[in-house]
Amino acid sequence: MTTSSGTSQISRSDACYERACKVLAGGVNSPVRAFRAVGGRPVFLKAAEGPYVTDVDGNRYIDLVGTWGPAIVGHAHPEVVRAVQQAAAEGLSFGACCEREAELAEIIVGALPSVELLRFVNSGTEATMSVVRLIRAATGRTKILKFLGCYHGHVDVLLVAAGSGAATLGVPDSAGVPKDFAAHTLLAPYNDLDAVKRIAAEHGDDLAGILVEPVAGNMGYVPPAEGFLEGLRKLCNDCGALLVFDEVMTGFRVAWGGYQVKADLNPDITCLGKVIGGGMPVAAYGGRRDLMEMVSPLGPVYQAGTLSGNPVGMAGGAATLRLCRADGFYEGLEAKTTQLAEGLLDAANAAGVPLQTGAVGGMLGVAFADKPVRNYDDAAACDHEMFGRFFHAMLQRGVWLPPSGYEAMFVSSTHDETVISRIIDAAADSFKAIAR
Ligand SMILES: *Cc1c(COP(=O)(O)O)cnc(C)c1O
Repeated sequence: MTTSSGTSQISRSDACYERACKVLAGGVNSPVRAFRAVGGRPVFLKAAEGPYVTDVDGNRYIDLVGTWGPAIVGHAHPEVVRAVQQAAAEGLSFGACCEREAELAEIIVGALPSVELLRFVNSGTEATMSVVRLIRAATGRTKILKFLGCYHGHVDVLLVAAGSGAATLGVPDSAGVPKDFAAHTLLAPYNDLDAVKRIAAEHGDDLAGILVEPVAGNMGYVPPAEGFLEGLRKLCNDCGALLVFDEVMTGFRVAWGGYQVKADLNPDITCLGKVIGGGMPVAAYGGRRDLMEMVSPLGPVYQAGTLSGNPVGMAGGAATLRLCRADGFYEGLEAKTTQLAEGLLDAANAAGVPLQTGAVGGMLGVAFADKPVRNYDDAAACDHEMFGRFFHAMLQRGVWLPPSGYEAMFVSSTHDETVISRIIDAAADSFKAIAR
């Protein structure tokens, strides 16, 4: 590919970037897209279809980002596009109630036994932000416990030791967050139940809730250790705190409903986003009826949104979830994702590159490390410089990876056998190239 090779002839991508940098902060609208973690200049995309994305220079790549998860049925699925077009033709947004809101909510509530009532918002950040307010109101307590390396959007009080883009920029705490805002945020290492117990013993009376990614996907891919999430449930019951699963990434991505359905767990509140909009800006929070009844207009916790529940977003989400509801959808997706994870591991072993891989549903992770990654310290100790070289080697071979070693990867139902083996072949070559 000509895009990042630094040849004298300027690519269209480079021209787009120069243009964007003049009018957009850093040339991007989300920091990870700037390629800072992997080096080089961002590649600009112009189209996406099925398992592929195409850049502005006409290069086509197999996509393992899937717009960070939402593209679970592949990009621009004809049924999703048709549903969105039809809704759009009938009006983009009403700022009033529409029938499509209940339609999508029924699918979600029907899939998640812990969710009795739902509220739609426009981004995962908005969902977690609203939930922090809700659990504080419901408990009359102030402290929030989160895990090092878990990302819950760019909410002030949750942007403490967050993973994702914040990790690669080396600013665990963002500038502009007053110290006393973050003072009520307690931190524990992921998968460390003893640490959580110590914190609960100290702050239990003032602990409003624990927020957790049930499978962490913003410090690379870090699955929960056996008994970790069950332990959090019990601890919350014991000290009267609320358990919040941030399933913005894992919801309808790792299983129908989310990880809680797969693992039979019962959080008090759940945050959703990404897949439930199928590529449209849709997110939600929901949970126990008595808690959700505290949200305005039923209760005193104020939360609103001009574009929340707009018909176009609802239509995109409902069309996507109807496709996911097909028999065997998640089994098929997990089989392919697992096959890919195993293929990548074999290819790395053959090249003598130390690699860890893991997969659940349509989510997978690779880490350049010689032991499993269990928490943020492990994730930070991975060879991120090697990931950067792997990223560019794969890009040159036509595979689009997340441009940071702190992110998970996503497979869609349109990634067929041929596509999966092409990724593995590209990786086998890439591992050899970077092992030198
Ligand atoms: C993506 C993500 C968010 C933030 O969602 P946005 O729509 O980007 O604001 C929150 N939590 C988790 C677990 C996520 O993966």
